[in-house]
Amino acid sequence: MEIASRLEVLFPGTAAELCALEFATPFQLLCATVLSAQCTDVRVNATTPKLFEVYPDPHSMAAADRSTLEALIYPTGFYRAKADHLLGLSARLLERYGGEVPQAMEDLVTLPGVGRKTANVVRSVAFGLPGLPVDTHVLRLTKRLDLARSADPVKVEHRLNALFGREIGGAMSLRLILHGRSTCTARVMSCEACELLDLCPTGQRRQPVSPSVLQ
Ligand code: SF4
Repeated sequence: MEIASRLEVLFPGTAAELCALEFATPFQLLCATVLSAQCTDVRVNATTPKLFEVYPDPHSMAAADRSTLEALIYPTGFYRAKADHLLGLSARLLERYGGEVPQAMEDLVTLPGVGRKTANVVRSVAFGLPGLPVDTHVLRLTKRLDLARSADPVKVEHRLNALFGREIGGAMSLRLILHGRSTCTARVMSCEACELLDLCPTGQRRQPVSPSVLQ
């Protein structure tokens, strides 16, 4: 579809290439994604080098000293809950999955602190598998572009997968997020500068009516 083609030109690359979070292993991406809740990618990336130096894998993270872990992730906010998640998911990876991050959605969502959105990030970015994370930017953009009208992230995920194709769902999610951060933010719609204007019902409605139409 044309919207997908234009977004691909604007934001080329695979899901792994488009993802702003820095990581060396699927486990580290999983942790970084958990930390990114209510936090910017920039701040997460400033936090994780030291965190992963001290706790690089599930074995070390599961055995982490809680106060040390909380101090390391404090800048990302909600540090007590996030420490619970990192400790819990690391322990579960050791107990159930031999210390490896599973690839299946039904396994990923059993990990503490891991919902469908985080699971889709890990699947698409770390493993190159189908996975379309739906966040607030994706919900906003799909509504404005009239790609999906539901506010239910799971329904939107399925709808976008059907529109874009599951294989590129992860990259398309990231492209919508990047467009939502740069041109079509929650507060400001820069429709005049938007490459999608002629395809966007919301942008079209916001255009001034030509004087010739009024005559
Ligand atoms: S035309 Fe406007 S509303 Fe539509 S995607 Fe672009 S910036 Fe957003």
